[in-house]
Amino acid sequence: MQQSFPMNGGDGPHSYLNNSHFQRQAINVSRTMIEEAIAKKLDVKCFSSNPFRLADLGCSVGPNTFIAMQHIVEAVERKYLAQGLKSEMPEFQVFFNDHVANDFNTLFASLPTERRYFACGVPGSFHGRLFPESSIHFMFSSHALHWLSKVPEELLDKNSPAWNRGRIHYTSGPEKVSHAYAAQFEHDMEIFLSARAKELVVGGMIVLLIPALPNGIPISQSPFGAMFDLLGASLMDMAKEGLISEAEVDSFNLPIHIASPEQMTELVERNECLIIERMEFVDPRSNLFGLINGKECAMFLRASLEGVFAQYFESGIIDQLFDRLSKKIMESSHQLEPVGTLLFVVLRLK
Ligand code: SAH
Repeated sequence: MQQSFPMNGGDGPHSYLNNSHFQRQAINVSRTMIEEAIAKKLDVKCFSSNPFRLADLGCSVGPNTFIAMQHIVEAVERKYLAQGLKSEMPEFQVFFNDHVANDFNTLFASLPTERRYFACGVPGSFHGRLFPESSIHFMFSSHALHWLSKVPEELLDKNSPAWNRGRIHYTSGPEKVSHAYAAQFEHDMEIFLSARAKELVVGGMIVLLIPALPNGIPISQSPFGAMFDLLGASLMDMAKEGLISEAEVDSFNLPIHIASPEQMTELVERNECLIIERMEFVDPRSNLFGLINGKECAMFLRASLEGVFAQYFESGIIDQLFDRLSKKIMESSHQLEPVGTLLFVVLRLK
């Protein structure tokens, strides 16, 4: 069974809406790359049907999705003009996709009034089909594909070498644990890519922004890994103080995998319909881990991860957990040099 862990909804102090400026920065920094991909490779002459359909997979609650969708619509309009197709300028329809548990009310209540597209919600997991065959011209997904559809089962089996005792992630764990995570990611991505290949219109394009690490860099040397280790250590401290049990920590694991370009390339190559048009790391300015203080960093992580913890631990421990995390980040800021970043990937049909 697939699991879902939506970002914090609403517009409160811990909401994703108010704590997603890091992801927003990355969307802004990659804007020129998206525009270039559209200008050079989106084959609008192929498209006969009106409207132009565009999807954001794992859109959360905004405002980042609105910014990204606006950039893309403007770039596509420029492409039509540059091709001398002004009279054929389509109307735009944007499909906002996320898990059913996402706060779609907040998303739709904050839709920009000046938007140049018709908006629809598409509830459900992108680890499966979401749209009719050959119906979407442009698919986008930012900071979402690192979420696994579920925690690999062997992590919870005390008799398995992949039992992840005393940790909440594969960072700093035995190889068998990383392998279990990698296998789950590969399984999920295969399903994702094959569904998208069916749904994409010929001449269309998929743009992905994925948290990733350069080939060969172990996650323990990255800010992602440092954060996950500090979160695990905070939970273990709480277990030692009797606030939660160690068994609870042993059986809790974050369903997040950080890919490498090598792994992504292999996965796309395994798919028989898609090819990589471009794959490179986004300008490191989008990675602010090293530039922020412990409190801000803990808030940013809380907006994204609270849902996972809240489904598992009693709600009473959440404030404490993130307070402890914030202190640990401040004590260990030297570990948070920005090594890992975001991978920009452009795919299209062969
Ligand atoms: N794209 C936005 C939000 C990223 S947060 C931005 O860049 O700011 C990641 C989002 O992906 C969350 O809202 C989460 O619910 C969603 N997500 C994770 N797994 C998903 C899945 N299998 N199907 C659909 N949405 C998913």
